[in-house]
Amino acid sequence: MRFVEEFRDPALGRALAGEILASVEPGRHYKVMEVCGGHTHSIYKYGVDDLLPANVELVHGPGCPVCVIPMGRVDDGIAIAREPGVVFTCFGDMMRVPGAEGTLLEAKAEGADVRMVYSPLDALRIARENPDREVVFFAIGFETTAPSTALTLKRAKAEGIRNFSCMCNHVLIVPPLRALLESPDLRLDGFVGPGHVATVVGARPFGFIPADHGKPVVIAGFEPLDILHAIQMILRQLAAGRCEVENQYTRVVPWEGNLRALEVMAEVFALRPHFEWRGLGFISQSALRLSDDYADWDAELRFSVPGVRVADPKACQCGEVLKGVIKPWECKVFGTACTPERPIGTCMVSSEGACAAYYNYGRFAREREVV
Ligand code: SF4
Repeated sequence: MRFVEEFRDPALGRALAGEILASVEPGRHYKVMEVCGGHTHSIYKYGVDDLLPANVELVHGPGCPVCVIPMGRVDDGIAIAREPGVVFTCFGDMMRVPGAEGTLLEAKAEGADVRMVYSPLDALRIARENPDREVVFFAIGFETTAPSTALTLKRAKAEGIRNFSCMCNHVLIVPPLRALLESPDLRLDGFVGPGHVATVVGARPFGFIPADHGKPVVIAGFEPLDILHAIQMILRQLAAGRCEVENQYTRVVPWEGNLRALEVMAEVFALRPHFEWRGLGFISQSALRLSDDYADWDAELRFSVPGVRVADPKACQCGEVLKGVIKPWECKVFGTACTPERPIGTCMVSSEGACAAYYNYGRFAREREVV
């Protein structure tokens, strides 16, 4: 398959691993954060970290959209789903995220009409086919998926579909990165930048990381060679005393981003003054709501929601995992009380969550190491 197989070539992977080994200073420990959950998934799936020298440590960042949804927002979604006449639609992962009131899947089992969709356009189609029902789409994701929600809302408005609305949980990547960089308990040497988000926003918004914090950022693709190449580029910057934003994913990411997508987002969304992130607390101007022009399609205005802040379960350490402070296996309930089948925290739900990725691909290697 073009643009896939050639980025999984084992010989090239070994050559890159050799170059990485040659560029590290012995005795120095390097901590590199991969921001995006897609990278975390690839790292564990392909064993990328096994190819790195012991003094190059990868830590996982807050870039999994399902993982950062707080429990209170899940409860708000369940409250809407239980309203009479509502068809509540969301992506499959979201159905298993626990809130204080259970999950959307459990609400479905109890009689709520909750349906899994693959895109917001599927939800709009359901609304078109069921004019007597109120169809709500639970929108999640970073800037990567926000344009598809925006285009769907534009279409709903153009077609005059009034029984469709959106509960908007879209979040932005730069504010949590700023919050992480300002946190005193995390020392990082560089970032593997989020390739999917950068496809929309471009590489430019990440310039504050070298400019204000003196750390290199390399925007990277998602195949194993992309990630190894990005790590090598970061280490080269560090060895040369440089720090800048570089784009490893040039086959997909334009430096300026996708201007048409940004334009549509600016029309349909407005910034929320603040938004709660799971494990990170409230971060100002870090999420989107529907703009005033689209208020008629805003589920939070159309339905009343509890809007209650819910503390995470005591055993849950998703916050520390999302901040890169601990590794998934260091959580006390990892793989015992918390598994992909019965998740306690969000990081075990989505395949992009660090705990699920590690549970699915990494734990056997670690068990061998421990034995
Ligand atoms: S193991 Fe479960 S509770 Fe612990 S950090 Fe991971 S998802 Fe959260």
